[in-house]
Amino acid sequence: MANLESNVEQSPTGIGHLLNSHVGAIRFMAGTRIFRQGELGDVAYMIETGYVEISSMSGGKKHVMAILRTGEIFGEMAILDGQPRSATASAMHETTLIPISGKQLRDELDRGSAVTRLILIAAIDRLRTIQTKDYQDVESLKDCKKQQTQNDTHIKLARVHASQQFKLRFDMERAICQRHFKFDYQPIVSLADGRTKGFEALLRWPRPDGQILMPGDFISLAEQSGLIVPLGAWALENALQSLAVITHNSRQQECEGGGIFMSVNISARQLEREEDVEQLATMIEKAAFAPGCVSLEITEQTLLVNPRAATIGLARLKATGASIVLDDFGTGYSSLNNLHCFPLDTLKIDRSFVNRIVDDRSRQRVVAAIIGLARELNMDVVAEGVEKLDDARWLREHACRYAQGHLIAKPAPLGEVLGYLERDIEF
Ligand code: C2E
Ligand code: CA
Ligand code: CA
Repeated sequence: MANLESNVEQSPTGIGHLLNSHVGAIRFMAGTRIFRQGELGDVAYMIETGYVEISSMSGGKKHVMAILRTGEIFGEMAILDGQPRSATASAMHETTLIPISGKQLRDELDRGSAVTRLILIAAIDRLRTIQTKDYQDVESLKDCKKQQTQNDTHIKLARVHASQQFKLRFDMERAICQRHFKFDYQPIVSLADGRTKGFEALLRWPRPDGQILMPGDFISLAEQSGLIVPLGAWALENALQSLAVITHNSRQQECEGGGIFMSVNISARQLEREEDVEQLATMIEKAAFAPGCVSLEITEQTLLVNPRAATIGLARLKATGASIVLDDFGTGYSSLNNLHCFPLDTLKIDRSFVNRIVDDRSRQRVVAAIIGLARELNMDVVAEGVEKLDDARWLREHACRYAQGHLIAKPAPLGEVLGYLERDIEF
């Protein structure tokens, strides 16, 4: 019998219920059978620690087909083609496995293209044929082996990539439950007086080996897997707590007309389901900051993925008093339609336009036009990625209201950025 053991604590504040797959690894003692040839199965596994023997019976004899180790996946074929298990899997030593449910795997596939699915099913079909032949006669075994070696490298690479992604995703679920993510905050200053008016909360993922993963390494996986929903909810919760600390430390008390605001990034998937939007809205309402103190940053992509959900979701969030910022402006479609169809308060000009703006006349024209457009539409403008003093001065002279970038401060933990509230930056 397998010794089932969950390695994961449940979330202390209840975001764990949003995770839609198993978060517990399963431990098998040495010699335990994980599944048997001929059984139906709807779970695949990834080996977290230990070794697994894959074997099959033919002609009354046991054939060991493979010894799998950490990072390898098995049991996926039965899920994908619905056929009985073609082999028996047993733990060789004490082994910990991460279960991948059939639903989870099929959800992943559904998000992939139809061609990917077709290729995968065809590949599995071929693999099963090879396996069946494998133990029938020695000659066909040789042919199959030749064919197999050619495919081996591709399959190995694909397996390595897939298993890394599964492992990362599993670790991410665990890290969300155990609250192992951290946030850095980056000041956003008023160009007119050099005062810090707000902060952007940016996620960081410290790993057990001491490495810190940056959002570029995990946000797309979080979005693909849907984990961005609990992760983003937690990001907002955390940012609201930090805003309470910041407001307490600030000499500027009210938000509208020049107080401190907190910006949080929101992904398209967080706006897809009404209950997820409601959860965010409730958090903002409960925190009860003055209107405009909470800013939600979305990209144009978010508006395009599901415009209907974005319209309804943003309207609900806007009703909480939060302001809505269009992030990375200039890099997407920069559709004028979006500017009046959605309840936007601020345009955030992407750093690719801001970087060395003083040296580039065409960038200057684009940025001046964006600032003019924002003014006409009664929207604020933030320039992000400001690294040089002369760029900041150019932006100030062209009536850009806010700046954010390494010139002012790099993102840093809350305790380190609080000091910016007391310091006026000179441009
Ligand atoms: P973003 O929203 O455009 O965030 C700004 C990024 O620019 C941050 O990178 C920041 O560190 C970087 N940056 C700021 N000033 C400068 C500068 O002067 N020069 C340069 N070269 N870079 C600067 P980071 O922290 O790696 O975040 C990357 C992206 O990850 C963010 O881009 C945002 O799209 C996403 N992200 C971060 N936190 C969250 C989150 O909580 N939820 C979601 N959905 N996305 C997040
Ligand atoms: Ca942002
Ligand atoms: Ca941005």
